[in-house]
Amino acid sequence: MATIKEPSFRESVDLMFNRAVALLDLSPGLEEKIRVCNSTYTVRFGVRLRGQIHTFTGYRSVHSEHMEPVKGGIRYAMGVNQDEVEALAALMTYKCALVEAPFGGSKGGLRIDPRQYDEHELELITRRFAYELIKRDLINPAQNVPAPDMGTGEREMAWIADQYKRMNTTEINGNACVTGKPINAGGIQGRTEATGRGVQYALREFFRDAEGVQKAGLAGTLDGKRVIVQGLGNVGYHAAKFLSEEDGALITGIIERDGALFNPKGLDVEAVHHWLVSHGGVSGYPDATHTAAGAAVLEEDCDILIPAAMEGVINLDNAARIKAPLIIEAANGPVTAGADEILREKGTVIIPDMYANAGGVTVSYFEWVKNLSHIRFGRMGRRQEEARHQLIVEELERLSADRGLGWTLSPGFKDKYLRGAGELELVRSGLDDTMRTAYQAMRDIWHGRDDVHDLRTAAYLISISRVAASYRAKGL
Ligand code: GLU
Repeated sequence: MATIKEPSFRESVDLMFNRAVALLDLSPGLEEKIRVCNSTYTVRFGVRLRGQIHTFTGYRSVHSEHMEPVKGGIRYAMGVNQDEVEALAALMTYKCALVEAPFGGSKGGLRIDPRQYDEHELELITRRFAYELIKRDLINPAQNVPAPDMGTGEREMAWIADQYKRMNTTEINGNACVTGKPINAGGIQGRTEATGRGVQYALREFFRDAEGVQKAGLAGTLDGKRVIVQGLGNVGYHAAKFLSEEDGALITGIIERDGALFNPKGLDVEAVHHWLVSHGGVSGYPDATHTAAGAAVLEEDCDILIPAAMEGVINLDNAARIKAPLIIEAANGPVTAGADEILREKGTVIIPDMYANAGGVTVSYFEWVKNLSHIRFGRMGRRQEEARHQLIVEELERLSADRGLGWTLSPGFKDKYLRGAGELELVRSGLDDTMRTAYQAMRDIWHGRDDVHDLRTAAYLISISRVAASYRAKGL
């Protein structure tokens, strides 16, 4: 057992924030304004199911409105509570600032085990929760735009968008009230796998940074690197799949609810995922050894550890035993503040959550822009369309300059857009550009400043400075 008490998730985020903000010269008032969560709405609502009223508790927390709308997912899990949504909302603020998605930070959650309900029941519950949030402008295309998170996906987002449109029948931008929708309900290609894709692009960029690779005590490229993934949900599955299929990484360990699989020669991610979906767990999977105490596999020898499940899994109890020289936080908050300190002292390099899992919100931004512009992204095949794309780009840039919004289209994205590339190609190149640019900003601080020794502090410094600049511009 740990001798020191582990702080809560929100306290842990605040501790990391404090460590970074101490290196900045902000006025104490502004520092406090950025750190605190602006508001958290709690709702308890009843839904009649199986002949009986069931009461559910839900939250929507708004951390920072320095830019609107505010953005962040809605989580369905039994562990949801106010502290958790506030921590997650704060991370959304820093994440959006880091990748320059023009949003403030928010997060929502519903205390529910979605596996206990059938699809029709989940629809009733989701629509009722959405109704409560829509009524209070906590779901709104201009003010607060949710997205999927743990336990939710495109199905829930489609119900939320439909609920919003039922309640706002004359609103032309209704589809932009939520992102992560199915393609045929206003979604964008590449959103489902975006967070996993972002983890892959982040690692590729890390391995282009020779100094960073050396600091982790690693060498070479992703090819042949031994990777352990915790959680084969949407994020972990896509990250592991892309890294093994496209970059030659060996997925040696996969940790799930019912234990872990280990195979030093590398696991077939697609086959394990298929097994998991059809059996409800990984145990019994033939081509690997199975360990019932899954968490112990976090401590196995490997090159890269990818916690992709939930917060606090690397903590004061196990941090000292983690052998991976490189950890990439695909989940939000998987390493507690105390564990972060232990790992930093050991020389472990951590690619922080607010950067590592920003692929989701980055592609959410593309979806939101697509919904608001009412323009189909992607190839239209005619000369006039190319000219139209040119006009749209000019118009967007003019608008951004006029209003001082600071929106930029990355050169790669702009070039492909003007060429009339397909939607998926646009999404991928826009995401890749975003992940590269954000990494390079962190890298320059990490390697360039004597008082910064880790990527997390570098990430916070960038985010906090940007949020501070936008508060100052507002006259606050
Ligand atoms: N839930 C995701 C996250 O934690 C996505 C948020 C979004 O797209 O708004 O970043």
